[in-house]
Amino acid sequence: MNVTVFGTGYVGLVQGTILAEVGHHVVCIDLDDHKVEQLRQGNIPIYEPGLESLVKENYAAGRLEFSTDAAAGVNHGQVQFIAVGTPPDEDGSADLKYVLTVAATIAEHMEQNQIIINKSTVPVGSADKVRDEVEKVLERRGRNDIAFDVVSNPEFLKEGSAVVDCQKPDRIIIGTECDATIEVMRELYAPFNRNHDKIIVMDVKSAELTKYAANCMLATKISFMNEMANLAERLGADIEAVRKGIGSDPRIGYDFIYPGVGYGGSCFPKDLQALIHVSNTIDFDAKLLKAVESRNKEQKNTLFNKISQHFHAELKGKTFAIWGLSFKPNTDDMRDAPSRVLMEALWAAGAKVQAYDPEAMEEAQRLYGSHDHLILCGTKEAALKNTDALIIVTEWQNFRAPDFDLIKEKLTEPTIFDGRNIYEPRRMRAKGFTYYSVGRPSPL
Ligand code: NAD
Repeated sequence: MNVTVFGTGYVGLVQGTILAEVGHHVVCIDLDDHKVEQLRQGNIPIYEPGLESLVKENYAAGRLEFSTDAAAGVNHGQVQFIAVGTPPDEDGSADLKYVLTVAATIAEHMEQNQIIINKSTVPVGSADKVRDEVEKVLERRGRNDIAFDVVSNPEFLKEGSAVVDCQKPDRIIIGTECDATIEVMRELYAPFNRNHDKIIVMDVKSAELTKYAANCMLATKISFMNEMANLAERLGADIEAVRKGIGSDPRIGYDFIYPGVGYGGSCFPKDLQALIHVSNTIDFDAKLLKAVESRNKEQKNTLFNKISQHFHAELKGKTFAIWGLSFKPNTDDMRDAPSRVLMEALWAAGAKVQAYDPEAMEEAQRLYGSHDHLILCGTKEAALKNTDALIIVTEWQNFRAPDFDLIKEKLTEPTIFDGRNIYEPRRMRAKGFTYYSVGRPSPL
């Protein structure tokens, strides 16, 4: 099938590539000509395990193309994916301007009947807005003879495992009431639907809400565990024991119940905000969602509070090593990352930071390169040199079993603040560290 994808970010690039890999002919359109040129040269602007080789192979095979030519793009595809950003507006609502711009672009150039597939995360009712936009442009062009459908097909990939998630989706949500569209969508996704039927067809609004409900549920799990961690810390219990204890109940399960420094990334914070905003507009008080968000905001300060307390609020002139800048492992994404809240708080208190991340160094350079209280280091060991403590913010595999003797040698005091509970407190004490973690009596 000929497929057009608007937006070559985490979602558009990965989904476009995976569709090309199974044999569809995919043209990816982006406004950013530098990005398009880089992609054509095989330079992938984001880090996702397994993505680079797939992009290169499919590009070389001619199944995957990158272009800024929207008109040619629209005329290529039997289906048009919208996979552009929906960042939060000032009031927390999802900003639809990129989505609606793409809708207008598609309408401007389409010459045949089309299926417009909305992959971006958009509030309930957005498909109607896309439909109105397309109708308006077709009307102006005098082309109301062209038929189209707008499908909600939200994306559930996780950054860090986006390729595998797209290759083996847990579910494929299709929101439409049109039988002909369902048939085309089934054909499009047939290569991913062989093992068992993963396609769940529903009305458009339910599909749009499903995406928000999924992200809000996951964010709720995290905030719930962080709330329990705060309680455990104050009551002298160990949240890791509690986690195992509750995870063993199959109704709860072990997944996604890790305490830490709060959720970040481009999705949970903004999707929660957007659903709270929608609730406000319909006079519904989303009490639970507001609490989830507020717990998360506080949790992002948990490491700073522990650090400040340990150093009796005298952080001026201190230097801290930070391991992990991305909002989670296996990605270079620092959007809304807890590391940013921490670094900004440390700087505001007069401290300096020496940071290392296996993949997010370029992004950190882009965001904070000119900050004179930040040194970006080439290795995790280099980040330790002459620092007052080590702070772990992201649980990269590579941080799990470091050379503790070396850490001790490089730190002026053997103190570790671990925001992800990756070490065992008892062992850390035996090795001579002052070790703070989350939801466990500290320091041990
Ligand atoms: P992104 O910011 O990484 O990428 C968006 C891309 O769209 C950019 O390359 C931008 O240049 C391009 N773009 C903007 N306007 C355009 C236009 N008019 N024509 C062509 N290209 C245009 O965004 P993302 O992280 O891929 O997210 C896209 C959507 O998918 C969002 O709604 C997001 O909430 C949702 N989503 C994201 C994830 C994730 O993990 N990142 C997961 C599921 C869903």
